[in-house]
Amino acid sequence: MICSECRTVLPAFLDGELDVVRQVEVEDHLRTCDACSRIHQAQLALRSTLKSGELYFRAPVDLERKIRMAAQPAERKSMLPRPRMPAWIGASLAAAAVVALAIFVWPVLSRPSRTERIAQDVVSAHIRSLMPGHLTDVPSSEHHTVKPWFAGKLDFSPPVADLSAEGFQLVGGRLDYAADRPVAALVYRKGEHLINLFVWPSASKRQSPEAADARQGYNLLFWTRGQADFSAISDLNAAELKQFADLVRART
Ligand SMILES: [Zn+2]
Repeated sequence: MICSECRTVLPAFLDGELDVVRQVEVEDHLRTCDACSRIHQAQLALRSTLKSGELYFRAPVDLERKIRMAAQPAERKSMLPRPRMPAWIGASLAAAAVVALAIFVWPVLSRPSRTERIAQDVVSAHIRSLMPGHLTDVPSSEHHTVKPWFAGKLDFSPPVADLSAEGFQLVGGRLDYAADRPVAALVYRKGEHLINLFVWPSASKRQSPEAADARQGYNLLFWTRGQADFSAISDLNAAELKQFADLVRART
């Protein structure tokens, strides 16, 4: 056995882990080699020193308790199951949110505003009234005839202005439906142009300024006055329709 070989197996020799043949070879080498024998003696001394009680200190019971207490919160924390949701639940929640958005939120967002719906109602009612036989329920140029006709048919009494002196002839009145309720429709004529003036009780107590709109070739005006909402619509030009609205406001 050569020295390098001996020093490689020395630790195993010290621990008695070599087979008998190898052990004898090492013992023979140590007897004839001073250098390896010194290393062997040093390792033996180190092992016996480590095994002696002088390098061991028993931790005080109190220290052990303190360390365990200090470590407990971290241990508990690390032992708690993490509130981590499976990926499929996350994906399902995201999908559910999209569906909820589509079902509940989008219809609300895309729903026309009340003002928009009223404007649509007014245009529809005006066009319907222009169909044969739909213009008036009470054909009369007399506001003294038209105004009483609504009594008992509506839960309010619409003001009916006589604007004949200003060139707006009363044609008559009828019941119609707009703004989610029955409304009074007063029909006026200026030359060849018909005007529908819709009147219904206002949901708002405020007097709102005039609002103008134009749809499907018709001019529209909206205003609130004296606890009633008014909407005028006609194929009259905007200036003449505004003149009509100003006259109605002045007389109501
Ligand atoms: Zn040697």
